[in-house]
Amino acid sequence: MFVRLGKTPHMRILDKDAPVLVTGGSGYIASWLCKFLMEEGYHVRATFRDRKNAQKFEHLQRIDDEAPGTLEIWEADLLDPTSFDNVIDGCKVVFHVASPFVIFGAKDPENTLIKPAVEGTRTVLEAATRSGSVERVVLTSSIYALYGDNADILEAPNGKFDERSWNTSSSIHHQPYPYSKRLAEETAWKTSEGQTWDLVVLNPGFVLGPSLTTRRDSASIDFMLQMTDGRMKGGVPDVEIGVVDVRDVARAHMVAAEKGETKRRYILVAETVSFLTIANYLRAKFSHYPLPKKIAPKWLFKALGPWIGFTRKYVNRNFGYKVNYDTQPSREELGLEYRSVKDTVNDMLEEMERQGMTKSKGKKL
Ligand code: NAP
Repeated sequence: MFVRLGKTPHMRILDKDAPVLVTGGSGYIASWLCKFLMEEGYHVRATFRDRKNAQKFEHLQRIDDEAPGTLEIWEADLLDPTSFDNVIDGCKVVFHVASPFVIFGAKDPENTLIKPAVEGTRTVLEAATRSGSVERVVLTSSIYALYGDNADILEAPNGKFDERSWNTSSSIHHQPYPYSKRLAEETAWKTSEGQTWDLVVLNPGFVLGPSLTTRRDSASIDFMLQMTDGRMKGGVPDVEIGVVDVRDVARAHMVAAEKGETKRRYILVAETVSFLTIANYLRAKFSHYPLPKKIAPKWLFKALGPWIGFTRKYVNRNFGYKVNYDTQPSREELGLEYRSVKDTVNDMLEEMERQGMTKSKGKKL
């Protein structure tokens, strides 16, 4: 749940007379953002890589039929330097959400992660400049732009990652997804210098919660599938992460467009939890799944590493560390009141079960 604060002198109102752009409308987070925008009466221009693939936007068209707002479907690719020029024309607010989200095992990370993240950000923001109409860009960054490994917490001032933190431990060889998020956010800040539009950056933790589609390729959905299909039955890694609900992240984007302080980064995290805590939160209602019951030893992940996508360095620098985040600005300035992670993961699994996406007791439903 979140509350909206009252008007303040610097408050921005999304303009219902001008279209708003959401990049990557097919995605897990962007779909919720498009839904909330349409439900509040905004004119949404959403971009998709392939207009012919209607499966990617049918769920949004159904919302468009019911909601007071409207939806326009546009084709645009982050790797095409001019493909956002037409769609951005006339928009005052741009939500740049699209970016590949592959945490482990990305093949050819330079081309599959870094280029779309970095060049895509530059492309969208340069199109914003050329448009002359854009006043604010809200960028979906990540806590991984702040740090790469949990061990980085040892260097964080006051033992917390905050808006001054930057990920200096990732590279294309070690943690390429976090590296892509750091490079993309840096590109955004550089591109925003001296522009007529301003930038607000959101740095969500690991996003969980119900999905509006049955897509399985977001790492968030895959995580819940792994929790419930027995792949983690033997034990989970001893890893902690900040988690936030997808609905709160989508709402945060709207508030950031309306009233977020310019040139600010907002960490979006409800609670820091371990993988085992997530399993424990699910156990009461979902005991019919082979949920993990224990933490598996570190040596096992080192031994199995090459087969399950964990390097020794990853295990050494991420297992067994407590992490902490400064979420005060998102709570105080954006007025966010986060859902509990317990509700988030239960709502998520309930929805996945309803959509027939999960396996129960080893049987495909
Ligand atoms: P997702 O469901 O995988 O969505 C990714 C979106 O990016 C999809 O719409 C995808 O389009 C689009 N995309 C990827 N490469 C593209 C390209 N070359 N050109 C155009 N579009 C492209 O993941 P998500 O969880 O919603 O993530 C959305 C954003 O949130 C990303 O920036 C991600 O880094 C960030 N984020 C996610 C989390 C999380 O835990 N989920 C946490 C922090 C930050 P297709 O449908 O065509 O593939």
